[in-house]
Amino acid sequence: MKSTLLSRRDLDFLLYEWLQIDELTKRDRFAEHSRETFDAVLDLCEQLATRYFAPHNKKSDAEEPRFDGEKVTVIGEVKEALDAFTQADLVGMSMDGEFGGAQLPMTVAEAGFAWFSAANISTTGYLMLTIANANLLAKFGTPEQIDAFLRPMLAGRFSGTMALSETQAGSSLADILTRAEPQDDGTYRLFGSKMWISGAEHELTDNIVNLVLAKIPGGPPGTKGISLFIVPKYLVGEDGSVGERNDVVLAGLNHKMGQRGITNTVLNFGEGRVTPGGQPGAVGYLVGEPHRGLTYMFHMMNEARLGVGMGAVSLGYTGYLKSLQYARERPQGRPVTAKDPEAPQIPIIEHADVKRMLLAQKAYVEGGMALLLYCAKLVDLQHSAETNDERDATTLLLDILTPVAKSWPSQWCLEANSLAIQVHGGYGYTREYDVEQHYRDNRLNPIHEGTHGIQSLDLLGRKVTQRGGASLAALGVAIGQTVAAASSAGGETAEFAGQLGATWQRLLDVTAAMFESGDIDAALANSVVYLEAFGHIVVAWIWLEQLVAANGRPGDFYDGKRQAARYFFRSELPKTGPQLDLLATLDRTTLEMRDGWF
Ligand SMILES: Cc1cc2nc3c(=O)[nH]c(=O)nc-3n(C[C@H](O)[C@H](O)[C@H](O)COP(=O)(O)OP(=O)(O)OC[C@H]3O[C@@H](n4cnc5c(N)ncnc54)[C@H](O)[C@@H]3O)c2cc1C
Repeated sequence: MKSTLLSRRDLDFLLYEWLQIDELTKRDRFAEHSRETFDAVLDLCEQLATRYFAPHNKKSDAEEPRFDGEKVTVIGEVKEALDAFTQADLVGMSMDGEFGGAQLPMTVAEAGFAWFSAANISTTGYLMLTIANANLLAKFGTPEQIDAFLRPMLAGRFSGTMALSETQAGSSLADILTRAEPQDDGTYRLFGSKMWISGAEHELTDNIVNLVLAKIPGGPPGTKGISLFIVPKYLVGEDGSVGERNDVVLAGLNHKMGQRGITNTVLNFGEGRVTPGGQPGAVGYLVGEPHRGLTYMFHMMNEARLGVGMGAVSLGYTGYLKSLQYARERPQGRPVTAKDPEAPQIPIIEHADVKRMLLAQKAYVEGGMALLLYCAKLVDLQHSAETNDERDATTLLLDILTPVAKSWPSQWCLEANSLAIQVHGGYGYTREYDVEQHYRDNRLNPIHEGTHGIQSLDLLGRKVTQRGGASLAALGVAIGQTVAAASSAGGETAEFAGQLGATWQRLLDVTAAMFESGDIDAALANSVVYLEAFGHIVVAWIWLEQLVAANGRPGDFYDGKRQAARYFFRSELPKTGPQLDLLATLDRTTLEMRDGWF
C-alpha cells in the first residue's frame, strides 16, 4: 500500500532525476557513500516513521505533556520513537565523521527527516532541536564541551533546546534581559527567564542541554552584547556522569493549539530553589567568545529555518496524500451534465473543483519539497566546496533563499492543509480524521523561528541588498540558466520560461525603483507583499526546473508533474502581477493607517 506520509516516487525524482545527488559522492566529503547507502537511509526513515512515529501522532495531541509540580510526564510512545531513531544512529546523519556522524549529504538527511515530520511533527521536534544544537556545538564548542554535551546527544542520552525568546523579547532579541555573571573558575551564573522553550523539560533523556542567549553585564547594548551559553538541566562531571541538578527550573508549560506532543516551557534560571555548589544562579558555560552569541545562534537558526520550512512541507504533503486518498473513496454527487438522478454517485475526485483543490495542494507541497531539497543541496555544496569562490557562490544563493524556504511553505503548505480539510468536507473538520490536526500543527510555522513579518524584513531589508545586491544577482543567474534550458525545450516549457523571465525582470525593476525612491519606510511597509511575490517567483522557477527534468519522459508520474507546473504558471504565478504593481507605487496605505482609525 502506498504511504500517505510522503511520496517516495517524488523524492526519488527530486533527489536523483532532478538534483542528481549521486554526483555528490564524487566529492571528498561524501566519497564513502553511494546511491545504495542513500536509498537504505531513506528506506529506514520511512519504516521507522511509519512504525514508531505515525501511530501515536493523534494520541500525543490528545494527551499532551503534564506537569504535576515536580515532573513532566509525556506519553510512553514518544520515548520508544526517540529510542528507535537514536538506536538507528540517525541523530548524526549529516554530522562530520570526527564526531561520530555518518556524514551523509544534508539533502539525504532532510529527505529522510521529512518522513518523521510528516508522521509526527511533535515527537520529531525533540530530535530537530537536538540535531541543530549538536551541529552548533560541533562548529563552535570546545573539545571539552563536545565530549560533555555533543557526544551524549548523538548517542541519544541527552537532548537539546534553543532558548532565545523571553516574554518581553520575541522578535526583538536585542531586548533580552537574562544575564550571565562571570565566575572566578571561568564558568557563568545565569539569572532570568525564558519563554516558549520547546523540549526543555521532560524525562525522555538523562539530561537536557539548553543553549541559552544571555547578556554579560557591562557588554555592548543591543544584539552586540548577547552571548551564548550551555546551561544543562543537570551538571555533568569530568567523567561524563550526570550529577547535581542545575538551577534551571520549570515555571510552567504552555498549552498550544497544535504540536502538543512536545513540551513548551517557561524556564527560570537562578531562581534559587536549587543552588548548585551551594551558590545561586544556573551554571552556564560560554560558547565561543563573549558577545558573539547571536552570530553563533544564527548558525543554528538558519538550519532551523530550513527545518521549519521542511516541517511545513511535510505536514502539507501528508495532508495532501490523505485528502487524495479520501477523494478517491468518497462517493458524492454526479457529473454536472448528468441527467439521471438514479445514476450511481461518483467519487468526489471526479469533480473539477475537488481536482482544483488537489492540484493546488500538489503544486504547493511538491514545489515546497523541491525548494527545500534544493536548499539542502546548497548546504552540501557549501560544506564540500573545493574553492572559496565555490563556497561563496553557494552561500550567496542560500542566504537569499533561506527566508523564502522558511516562509513560503509555512504559508502555502498551511493553505494546502486547509484545502485538505475542505476536500474532506464536514469530516475534515472533525477529530476522526487527521487533517485538522495537520492544520493546527502547521499553524505554528509562520510564527516561530522568526515570524512571517520578520522574514520579510530579512529578505527585503537585508538579503536583497547585501553585498551590493550580490545574493539577488546570484539568484538571477540561477533563474537565467533555468530559463535558457527551458526555452530550448520548446513548446509549453519555453512559454513558461518566457513568463518566468519577464516576471523576474519585473521584480528586479520594482526592487530597484523601491530603493531608488529613498522612501525606505514605504518600501519596508509592504515587505510581506514583497516576500509573497518573491516566494511565488522562486517556486515558479523551481517548478520550471522540475519541468525541464521531466521533459520528454512519458507516464502518469511525469504527466502529473507537467499538470502541476501548468497549474502553478497559470493560476499562481499571475498572482504576483497585482502584488508587484502595488509595490511599484510604494503604497503607503498600511503605513499611514492610524491607531485611532481602527
Ligand atoms: C509553540 C512555540 C514554540 C516555540 N519554541 C521556541 C524555542 O524553542 N525557543 C525559543 O527561543 N523560542 C521559541 N518560540 C518563540 C518564537 O520564536 C516567538 O514566539 C516568535 O519569535 C515571535 O515572538 P513573540 O511571540 O514575542 O511575538 P512578537 O515578537 O511580540 O510579535 C507579535 C507580532 O508583531 C510582529 N512584529 C514584531 N516585531 C516586528 C517588527 N519589528 N516589524 C514588523 N512586525 C513585527 C510579528 O511579526 C508578530 O506578528 C516558540 C514559540 C511558540 C509559539
